[in-house]
Amino acid sequence: MSKALTIMDLVAKKQKEIQAKKGRARPFKFPIGKTKIRLLPSWRLGDDPQFFHDFGSHYIKNDKGETEAVYVCTEKTFGQDCEICKAIGMGIKSAHDDETIELLKDANSGQQYLMNAIVRGDANNKEPVLIAAGIGIFESICEIIAEYGDITDLKEGVDLTISREGSGRNDTKYTVIPAAKSESVPKEVLGKALNLDEYVSQENESGLHKALTAVGSAAGLLMAPKSSPATAGAGEMGAIEDKSLSKSIAEELKDDAVDADFEEVPEMKEAPIEDDINEDELDELLADLDG
Ligand SMILES: [Zn+2]
Repeated sequence: MSKALTIMDLVAKKQKEIQAKKGRARPFKFPIGKTKIRLLPSWRLGDDPQFFHDFGSHYIKNDKGETEAVYVCTEKTFGQDCEICKAIGMGIKSAHDDETIELLKDANSGQQYLMNAIVRGDANNKEPVLIAAGIGIFESICEIIAEYGDITDLKEGVDLTISREGSGRNDTKYTVIPAAKSESVPKEVLGKALNLDEYVSQENESGLHKALTAVGSAAGLLMAPKSSPATAGAGEMGAIEDKSLSKSIAEELKDDAVDADFEEVPEMKEAPIEDDINEDELDELLADLDG
């Protein structure tokens, strides 16, 4: 499994991983009550009508309820096959108990729609925020656009009033209506909008590997702590690409342990997720799915 890597390959790969681990903009948290916002036109500028980007993330927890890995769902984000979805599906098929099935089902990603917006009445209202809407909110937005036309137009667009009720995972409800009065948006605001193509570009080998390992542990297919060093090394070399998790692969990885690069072990023990997301936000995001 020795694959010649040039220093440039290595650095490019590391840069991508660092980018993925570094704090990304966090979605705006709607307070309970009414918030007036204005959706911005496409970050791609020009006449591109693409004002939103599909998005989904897998949050993979262990049996103690701690988040082990967070990884972009390529199915929900790009409409492409997702290794994590596949691994979860296989795990569910071969699971023998309800707890395991629940744990794996929870790791499935929900569909979200990312948008740039400004929050009216906020002192920072010239700084765009990231909105991560669930299907409910996004559907309402689509209905409003069907009726009012291009509500994102800087001059002629329409502000939206988002009302939030409840704060828990199951009792949060959002409603979206066009605001009675709308103001125009200064052009320079659009220049500060988040590039959502870049935002969703989160794929990286070590993240994928970590997520697959977490799914494997949740499914009880991998003997987690002991096989970690082996899987860390193997993953770095791309050894588990395009392979689904199974007992035989766990064995293969064990065999590879001799060749494994143990310097990668600290990396597996890192928990960048805790910096990036806390339980509240997670609940929030999940709650949004039903909003
Ligand atoms: Zn997926």
